[in-house]
Amino acid sequence: THFGFRDIPEEQKETMVGGVFSSVASSYDLMNDSMSLGIHRLWKDSFVSTLVPRLPPSFHSVSNSPSSHPANPKFKCLDVAGGTGDIALRILDRAREKFGNRDVEVEIVDLNEGMLDEGRKRVAKTLYYNTPQIAFTHGNAQSLPSHIADNSIDLYTIAFGIRNCTSLPAVLSEAYRVLKPGGRIGVLEFGKVSNPLLREVYRQYSFQFIPIMGKILAGDADSYQYLVESIERFPSQPEFAQLMRDAGFQTGQMREGKGGAWTDFTFGVATMWTGVKV
Ligand code: SAM
Repeated sequence: THFGFRDIPEEQKETMVGGVFSSVASSYDLMNDSMSLGIHRLWKDSFVSTLVPRLPPSFHSVSNSPSSHPANPKFKCLDVAGGTGDIALRILDRAREKFGNRDVEVEIVDLNEGMLDEGRKRVAKTLYYNTPQIAFTHGNAQSLPSHIADNSIDLYTIAFGIRNCTSLPAVLSEAYRVLKPGGRIGVLEFGKVSNPLLREVYRQYSFQFIPIMGKILAGDADSYQYLVESIERFPSQPEFAQLMRDAGFQTGQMREGKGGAWTDFTFGVATMWTGVKV
């Protein structure tokens, strides 16, 4: 049946979101690639390179294993709604390949065990497997697991996950709480396409093509119908930037020479918002 999401009580939404992602977990990566024509990879690459502009090398520089020497303070990342590890693995790869850094640690928090399991399977094929560099935790963005302390995180990321959360202010205030002063937040999410003509093309694409593709590839049109609706309901670029400021973040500080609180990708189909905890 079709989800009239607006009319559903808050408590039920979380269970439903769980259901949506359970039914798509195993086909998730294939679906991402087919729905976005592979472009989500480029968005995620830009997102991560903006948020991790540079890092010091590990003590045993260019080492191929995590350094056991506590020479550098660990750079701690929390990738919330991290699902199958797309963002986490990009952060670790960038740190290692570009900066010879194996001291970065990423903890993935996700509400859905199915997604976490897919992520674990994926990480098992990488050289981060069984290292302190990556951890998976079951938990909710709106009230993060209690072992994640206040003022403990250097970088908080949430990619294509926040629109599924029932309270955006709750997510943002949790992010603010766990970040260190000076710590950064990056939110990657579907935005609003501002050009009216392109917006119409995109609307047709989402409402016609995506549920059909969902049916063909995952045998599940409803989950994808829900995803399309959740994109429509999400705030606009300036509205979300305001929510970030309301939570205490300073926005528009991240890209040198670029003052905006957000950066649009592909005409605003996706948008990256960035902020700093002051
Ligand atoms: N970040 C990954 C990526 O970019 O490919 C996964 C995005 S996936 C579209 C959305 C994820 O958000 C799902 O894994 C889902 O389980 C998770 N999620 C939804 N609501 C959540 C919540 N309240 N707290 C934590 N995770 C949540």
